[in-house]
Amino acid sequence: MDYQNRAGSKFGGGGVASQSATNADRRERLRKLALETIDLDKDPYFFKNHVGSFECRLCLTVHQNDGSYLAHTQGRKHQTNLARRAAREQKEGRDREGFMPGVQGVQVKKNVVKIGRPGYKITKIRDPLTRQVGMLYQLMYPEITPGITPRVRFMSAYEQKVDDPDKTFQYMLVAAEPYETCGFKLQAREIDRKDDRFWTWFDEDTKEFYIQILFKTERDERYSNVPGLGPSGPRK
Ligand SMILES: [Zn+2]
Repeated sequence: MDYQNRAGSKFGGGGVASQSATNADRRERLRKLALETIDLDKDPYFFKNHVGSFECRLCLTVHQNDGSYLAHTQGRKHQTNLARRAAREQKEGRDREGFMPGVQGVQVKKNVVKIGRPGYKITKIRDPLTRQVGMLYQLMYPEITPGITPRVRFMSAYEQKVDDPDKTFQYMLVAAEPYETCGFKLQAREIDRKDDRFWTWFDEDTKEFYIQILFKTERDERYSNVPGLGPSGPRK
């Protein structure tokens, strides 16, 4: 087979070649950008092993290069493990402070439909790679109806009826029977929903529900208007 005449030679297929060259170029630029914005020396889970590949000590995964590791840190698996670890560390902290998990259980009378709002914790987060800011919400549903998974819905300032409408805010509602639906007020910025940036996870064992949101950066919004970043973008 004549590999010389595959896409990329001057005998046709030039379009395909320039497209993949553009993609490779874009990936390389994103990798460089990631390397500029994340400090691998300070990442406690990043480990370079003796054969020169990279490991995530949190997820026990192996990566052929740093770019692949960086991409992994943005994925669902790594993010879920981060949330699990945060939850475990928080629980250990509570136990040290003498918190007794069994005691705060809500008393449910048979004829009561709603049993109040869940306990919750909000952590401000910042993506080390993209520098996006956001929140990690953790809601405790120890008495949730078996088989139910909490549901999330976003609402504009005009749709909700609790506050006077203020267009600089939006609301996130979380519903899980038999708890009362609770609402969180947050900035009316666009939420990044690509690549699992926005995710929810219900831990069936601990009955804790996690929601991670990251706001789009202005830079993101600007770039989303330029398909493929274009070949005229900045070159190194
Ligand atoms: Zn990982």
